[in-house]
Amino acid sequence: MSSEIQLFGIFGYPVIHTMSPYMHNEVFEQMNLPYFYTAFEVLPQNLAKSIESIRVLGLKGVNITIPHKEAVLQYLDEIIPSARFIGAVNTIKNEDGKLIGYNTDGLGFITAIREDLSIDPAEKSFLLLGAGGAARAIAIQLALEKCRKIYIANRTLSKAENIAYIIKKNVPLCEANPVLFNPAEISRIIKDVDILVNTTSVGMKKDDSKLLDSEFLSSLYAVIDIIYNPPETLLLKEASRKGLKTANGLGMLTFQGALAFEIWTGIKPPVNIMRNAIIKQLKKTDT
Ligand code: NAP
Repeated sequence: MSSEIQLFGIFGYPVIHTMSPYMHNEVFEQMNLPYFYTAFEVLPQNLAKSIESIRVLGLKGVNITIPHKEAVLQYLDEIIPSARFIGAVNTIKNEDGKLIGYNTDGLGFITAIREDLSIDPAEKSFLLLGAGGAARAIAIQLALEKCRKIYIANRTLSKAENIAYIIKKNVPLCEANPVLFNPAEISRIIKDVDILVNTTSVGMKKDDSKLLDSEFLSSLYAVIDIIYNPPETLLLKEASRKGLKTANGLGMLTFQGALAFEIWTGIKPPVNIMRNAIIKQLKKTDT
């Protein structure tokens, strides 16, 4: 780009509900940086051309969201090892035309539990409900952070098995166990779990059925739901009622953005400004 302003963006489809432009532009403005971040709706058939446009137009950095996080790998010049294990990229840095892929989702989750709940994942045992894209990033990053054990519970067992296989292959010191997501299996393993993480989409809608019987929560240390809208799912309400440590997905969302910001600019951003920008926007969209 020839202008003084440097451009950042997010590619996704649909991309209308993304919070990323609000959190990044708020920090750019408050830090007086000549940067601007915007959302681009990119259809799957246009992904290759859109990635090439990062070079052509000189965008400094881009976030990648659903449904392109896996497909984008083939168009990049370099992929950092953790993103390669995860098999998905959510952040691209443009270094003079060389496109480097990162994944800040898993590390965003880890940073959020460290900063917001003072939880160090090392030596802890986790149960992830769900085995989709978010679970994959979180599970692999937890293994890289030396957690002791991860159970991955999913309706479709093959997806949980696939994540466990990647962990066993790349981080053999962490025990990864795929299980079917049903009450009998949860009952069998729950006493061996410190921290429960909901990575399914159950809880986003008001009429969603109960994900888990609350009796399973009693022996846990903490429950995290990566859903951030609504801010308190039924699962989190029940965990709070039992006096457990809880967090929603706002921390993960904020820190994955903060880590991307740092990759692009070399500056550690003021995370609370990013968090408050998301909260403000969520309130606007709720009214
Ligand atoms: P995804 O790849 O589509 O995976 C969805 C997962 O939810 C799958 O494991 C699926 O099981 C499971 N699931 C869906 N409905 C279910 C039900 N009724 N009962 C049991 N399991 C069910 O989605 P994703 O990208 O991982 O995202 C999952 C959630 O995380 C969404 O709510 C998303 O908003 C949230 N998220 C938050 C952040 C953040 O920064 N806070 C980041 C990413 C995602 P099957 O495999 O059996 O279908």
